[in-house]
Amino acid sequence: MQAWLLHKPAAVETRPLSLEQVPVPTPDEHEVLVRVTACGICRTDLHVVEGELPPRKSPVTPGHQVVGVIEKSGRDAGKYKRGTRVGIPWLHKTCGQCLYCRTGLENLCDSPEFTGYTNDGGFAEYTVAHEDFVYPLPGGFGDLQAAPLLCAGIIGFRCLRRSGIAAGGNLGIYGFGSAGHVCIQVAKHLGANVFVCTREEKHRRLATELGAVWVGSTVDEPPEKLDASIVFAPAGEIVPPALAALRKGGTLILGGIHMSPIPSFDYDLLYQERSITSVANNTRGDGKDFLRIAAEIPIHTEAQIFPFERANEALIALKHDGIRGAAVLQF
Ligand SMILES: [Zn+2]
Ligand SMILES: [Zn+2]
Repeated sequence: MQAWLLHKPAAVETRPLSLEQVPVPTPDEHEVLVRVTACGICRTDLHVVEGELPPRKSPVTPGHQVVGVIEKSGRDAGKYKRGTRVGIPWLHKTCGQCLYCRTGLENLCDSPEFTGYTNDGGFAEYTVAHEDFVYPLPGGFGDLQAAPLLCAGIIGFRCLRRSGIAAGGNLGIYGFGSAGHVCIQVAKHLGANVFVCTREEKHRRLATELGAVWVGSTVDEPPEKLDASIVFAPAGEIVPPALAALRKGGTLILGGIHMSPIPSFDYDLLYQERSITSVANNTRGDGKDFLRIAAEIPIHTEAQIFPFERANEALIALKHDGIRGAAVLQF
């Protein structure tokens, strides 16, 4: 099969992924072999490819928003029939035994595995995953539309849950790429008023089209105080202005896996019981609940399609804010 391999992290402009011929993987007893039909591209892929996340497997095939069909199941894997359409997310596997796994916080597992990072992912014609960690995908979404739901969508959903936002509340979204454009649709479904701060003009236009009540740059002050905000942009300098825009008792959620250093700020910005929390990965419960709600709404994902052969170019476009909505590799 053909697979994109990363041998050594480097700037995406140097096209560090190489397309190679490798054997089709064999599923172990609890795994399924999935023929990939689409794979979303996430900012985390960029962090893996450029080395902001330290290498855990080399070479590795990136990609953790995998949509495909089950071709074959391992000896003890019997949940799904051949031909079932499934999604494979970032959370590849957890230990099931640590404190976190035992207390409903498997997203914080002490020895987790991640698709496209510790294990080969979906920038390939085939991939394998444990059957307990794949999601059957609801109908109503094509493969290309479903792919961005599997990380951008699920992580955004966990951020929303952690924000505590409710009907009638004011929610800020900082950075409006793949996760932001899905998150706004869920937030509006919950009845929140959404204020979007983003630096790119085309992202502002998309936010307006998707029903933001106000759209500005990342340093503009929204016209009303916000009950909660989610920062999807990996830029630490957004934190102080985002705190300044919160009402007393408000919550700031940092949704990225990597962020540039946060500048120091006056305690006044945090005082009055404002809080800052990060969101790490997701539980399988988040994934299941989100996919159900996504089908109910239904979420419309704006997918910018790249042919499989153009994985490096897609990463370059993502790095330079060249994507409207979500980037997806098509097979
Ligand atoms: Zn664990
Ligand atoms: Zn991701």
